[in-house]
Formats: sequence, C-alpha cells, structure tokens
Amino acid sequence: MLEEAGLKLKKVKCPMCGKKFVPKFFHREKVKYEFGSTFYRIKNPKFKNSNENGRPYNIVRRSWVTFCPKCKYIIKFAAEVGKKEMLAEFSSFLHLKEFKENGNIYEYNFYNYGKPYKEALYYNEILMEGMRNNILNTLEDLKLESWGKLYKMWKSEKTIDSFKFLIRFYSLILKYIEIPDIEISNEKYSEQIKKLDISEDLKKDLLEIKKLRNKVVYEYHDLNEMDEKFIQNIFVNLVFDLIFKKLVQMGLNSIYNKKDTEIIDNKFIYSKLKKIIGNYLEEQLGLGEYANEFVISLLNKLKITLT
Ligand SMILES: [Zn+2]
Repeated sequence: MLEEAGLKLKKVKCPMCGKKFVPKFFHREKVKYEFGSTFYRIKNPKFKNSNENGRPYNIVRRSWVTFCPKCKYIIKFAAEVGKKEMLAEFSSFLHLKEFKENGNIYEYNFYNYGKPYKEALYYNEILMEGMRNNILNTLEDLKLESWGKLYKMWKSEKTIDSFKFLIRFYSLILKYIEIPDIEISNEKYSEQIKKLDISEDLKKDLLEIKKLRNKVVYEYHDLNEMDEKFIQNIFVNLVFDLIFKKLVQMGLNSIYNKKDTEIIDNKFIYSKLKKIIGNYLEEQLGLGEYANEFVISLLNKLKITLT
C-alpha cells in the first residue's frame, strides 16, 4: 500500500546549516529496529513515552534518505511506517506477527509513504517539457514541411533528380521572398534577397542559385557533382539560418543560461535539446547524416554548450 504524502514542491531546509536545497535524490533505507527486547525496554526511558511498557504505536521500518549538499548532514523521512493495530478477531494461538498486551492482541500493519519532496530530476523534466513545447511551437511557425518534403524526395526517397530539386527549390525561394513570378528579373530578385534577414554569405548563395537555375534551364547545363554539393549546402544553410533565427526569437539560450545551476543539470538539458531538435529535423527534413552536425552547430551558435 502506498500512501501518497503529497510530494512537496519546495526546498528542504537543512536543520544543521540552514541551507535550502532541492534534493538530488532520495533512497530508501532499512531502519534497524528491534522490538521485543526486554533489556531495551527497561534501559531505554524513551520507550516508556510511547506506550507505557508496551510496544510503540508507530515504528519506522524504512526511511527516505538524502543529504545536505553544503554540510553533508544526513536527512531522513519516514518511508514505511508500522502502525500497531488491535485485532478484533483472532484465533486461540498467536500468529507470527501478533503479540499480546494487556489482554489484547495486536499486530503491526505497514504503510508506505512516497518521497517527501520532489527531486531535482522533476525540476529538470518540468523545465525540459516547457522548452520542448516552446521549441516545437516555434518551429512549427516556419512551416518547413514543403522544404522537407522536397529534400526527402531528392535525398532519401530519390524520386526526383538534382535538376528537378533545383527547379523546385528555386520556386520555394521565390515563395519565401514572396515573389510569385518565376521569370523575375535578376535585379528584382537580388533586391528581394538583399532585404532578407539572413547572413551576407547566404544572400550571395541565393543569388548563385538563380544563376545556376538559369544556366540549367536556358543553357542546357548539366548539373555535376560540385553543383549538387553546392545546392545541398545552400539548402541546409538556409534551413539552418531559419531555424536559428526562430530559436533566438523564442529566447532559447536565455532560458538555458538563466537556469538554476544548483538544480538543473546541464548534461541532461543539453542531451534532451539535441534529441528534440534532432528528431524534429529528422521528421521534417530527413537530414540523415547531417542531422547531428547540424544540431551541434545550431546549439553552439545559440551559445548552448555543456560547459
Ligand atoms: Zn547543511
């Protein structure tokens, strides 16, 4: 039986040094308690307070143990408590657990109590849950599905070739810069690209994409391996930039850096963030072998590191 004592969402105060802290853990420990010893009953005056000269009303069989991170004082809470309960019905001889006192038959029934306070892991998970929802909602705004679908068709499903990818990628860029006209002039195109809030290198690359697309369409240029690599890099860099900006907007790095370092575990949060963003990239874009490097560079750029 587990009686939930209601986990407290507050810090434990160390009775020795007064430090308030969130316990990293509680472990259950067996309490050595021997009852039935006449010697103990006679010699220990405390025992008398519990119940004349009988056995105590409550005994502790297991405790939750933690310690103060500052002075290392060990702090215990009851985890399993035996309550002395009188039996209404009993047989003529005593069962193993039963005992007689003042003409009545008693036994101890044991009750379990949950951990008295929330542990650090709980706080880490709550913070992480908030971050996860925030990240996924933020990235959803990017509407990367069409970008991802196209990239997957090219890279993992191989249902389109590099030529088709380039043509469709170019039209996605036009959509992105809000130009519906495929035959937009170079001047107008470059004007729109320059307005974008992206790095200068990326702007140059997007201008090159138009040139390459024109070469393929009008000059019958066959895409070679270098071209393919180039197109792929620009695609990945553009997506990287879009995601990075969104995460900066939502303040992901300030949430990460403002955390309470006494409670929040860097490694835990870092690896969870890597997983959340990595899964998102895999689902949306199918970046495959690039995903890990992508996420690590993204977190680095956001100044989210393990140190
Ligand atoms: Zn202490």
